[in-house]
Amino acid sequence: MEILVCVKRVPDSAENEIEVKADGSDIKREDLVYSVNEWDNYAVEEAIQIVDRVGGSVTVASIGSPDAEEVVRREMAMGANNGLLLVDPAFEGSDGGGIAAILAAAVRKGKYDLVLTGAQADDGAAQVGGMLAALLDWPYASLVNLIEVKEGGVLRIGREIEGGNQEINEIETPCVLSIQTGINEPRYVGIRGIRKVASVEIPTLTAADLGLAPGAVGRTGAKVKRVDYFVPPAGAGAEILQGSTDEIAAKLVDLLKAKGGLK
Ligand SMILES: Cc1cc2nc3c(=O)[nH]c(=O)nc-3n(C[C@H](O)[C@H](O)[C@H](O)COP(=O)(O)OP(=O)(O)OC[C@H]3O[C@@H](n4cnc5c(N)ncnc54)[C@H](O)[C@@H]3O)c2cc1C
Repeated sequence: MEILVCVKRVPDSAENEIEVKADGSDIKREDLVYSVNEWDNYAVEEAIQIVDRVGGSVTVASIGSPDAEEVVRREMAMGANNGLLLVDPAFEGSDGGGIAAILAAAVRKGKYDLVLTGAQADDGAAQVGGMLAALLDWPYASLVNLIEVKEGGVLRIGREIEGGNQEINEIETPCVLSIQTGINEPRYVGIRGIRKVASVEIPTLTAADLGLAPGAVGRTGAKVKRVDYFVPPAGAGAEILQGSTDEIAAKLVDLLKAKGGLK
């Protein structure tokens, strides 16, 4: 099974204090520590496990600045066979539809049976997977937490449903699935794995290579324009706890006790 996994390089929320720029255009990105989007890491692990069971190969693709190479290489160190970088200044400022259009063009350049995305990334839009499937005219399932390969290119997939319930579907390939965290236990990436792929050539495709017309994606092509970005003011009745983690935890326990939530 030939599998493409779409991975995004995102600020690591465990390692950074995220602050919004005063002009509301974005977050402050200087000095941030980046890593692979958590959901995408589960998707790569799942793809590697499928290929271990049924054969084939895993390609990991990322759209971004040249720095996207760092997450592609990390996922290759984890066990993905190939990397693919989709890098062009023309991609900057894409909305979800633009990101999906770039990925769809990359999918059409290859020969894939299955495309995996994360259920969501740092912008929390959860739209790229569905839009990508629509552009390819492939079947799609979201929040997938189980994949079994059956005869005849059919997949048996589980989906996480509201209230902790589980749904099972069969879906024909080629298809797009967006992966929910918890589907597996992503493997640890050791220094040996990182060294092994350190000098592997990773191809880069630009808008021209993908046959994307100038202005079709990126800021010009975006039909959803981000116009502001801010931290909402605390609402009435809200209390923002200040202090160290220990101090905040202690205040929280006191508050819960005071309100009868804890005895
Ligand atoms: C400076 C800046 C300006 C922006 N301006 C706008 C704007 O004007 N309008 C707007 O709608 N959005 C804007 N965005 C948001 C940006 O385009 C989103 O990243 C995009 O819409 C995807 O949303 P998401 O990250 O929430 O992805 P989701 O849809 O939540 O992601 C689902 C999955 O899609 C795949 N995926 C997402 N991004 C990538 C990627 N780069 N490479 C490979 N796979 C990927 C991953 O598998 C991911 O798990 C801006 C972002 C930045 C940094």
